[in-house]
Amino acid sequence: MTRTVYVNGDYLPETEAKVSIFDRGFLMADAVYEVTSVLGGKLIDFQGHAARLQRSLGELEMISPVTMDELLEIHHQLIARNDLDEGGIYLQITRGAGPDRDFVWPDPEEVKGGIVLFTFAKKLTAGKSLDEGIKVVSMEDIRWGRRDIKTTQLLYPSFAKMQAKKKGAADAWLVEDGFVTEGSSNNAYIVKDGVIITRQLSTDILHGITRASILKFAAEAQMKVEERPFTIEEAQQADEAFATSATGFSQPVVEIDGVRIGDGKPGPVSRRLREIYMEEMPKTAL
Ligand code: PMP
Repeated sequence: MTRTVYVNGDYLPETEAKVSIFDRGFLMADAVYEVTSVLGGKLIDFQGHAARLQRSLGELEMISPVTMDELLEIHHQLIARNDLDEGGIYLQITRGAGPDRDFVWPDPEEVKGGIVLFTFAKKLTAGKSLDEGIKVVSMEDIRWGRRDIKTTQLLYPSFAKMQAKKKGAADAWLVEDGFVTEGSSNNAYIVKDGVIITRQLSTDILHGITRASILKFAAEAQMKVEERPFTIEEAQQADEAFATSATGFSQPVVEIDGVRIGDGKPGPVSRRLREIYMEEMPKTAL
């Protein structure tokens, strides 16, 4: 089945979808994005993703070409048209295509933002990485300073992930001034003596939508949470480690820079949080 995608107002087969070479998303990564997971044909935490999208757009003085209600409808159309049961939807809004390449932003009254959405089918509920956990390696965090804005400037996270793969790991945990910021595409956590430790929100990290839900569920389950930075050394001595993201939910991490975490198996806290997440989130799925 040819995938149907959404581009600037049209539903098209992916092979017929086109964007301008002057689109600023293409020329300058002048674009923001969201990835929402789909379970049982329904969107997990659409409201959270829509709220963060609006914040990203606001911080960059970009105007969405569609309303959030229209955006929800487009998501639903794509799920239906692609018969998507499990996976996700990628959404990107750009500042649109100006008449030329220009560092100066075009007037939003004259140049409408560009919008692209597509579905991807992916098994999210099971897999080897969940059963066995993943290995990560640390790398210096040299991304720009507004990581709270979800932009498509992903060259460094992609580079970091490739470096990790070369070292036989699945992901990189990024480190700035000696402390872990986050994973290449996820938020990072450790657990020590029953306390869940994760970096506090600031412009240094993306405000993960999954992070917000996981911390809420942890608090409801009377688990202790400390929002503070931690080092790689502290992580290596932790009882367990994990990462969260919209499509990974809670992903156990069992090795950091070649050092086994705890007994080298996925830990009970991340497993329990994943169970709660998988139980609760479908209840509010749209
Ligand atoms: N940090 C970064 C850098 C990410 O790219 C992502 C995933 N987009 C996350 C954290 C996790 O965010 P979310 O839970 O909203 O997917």
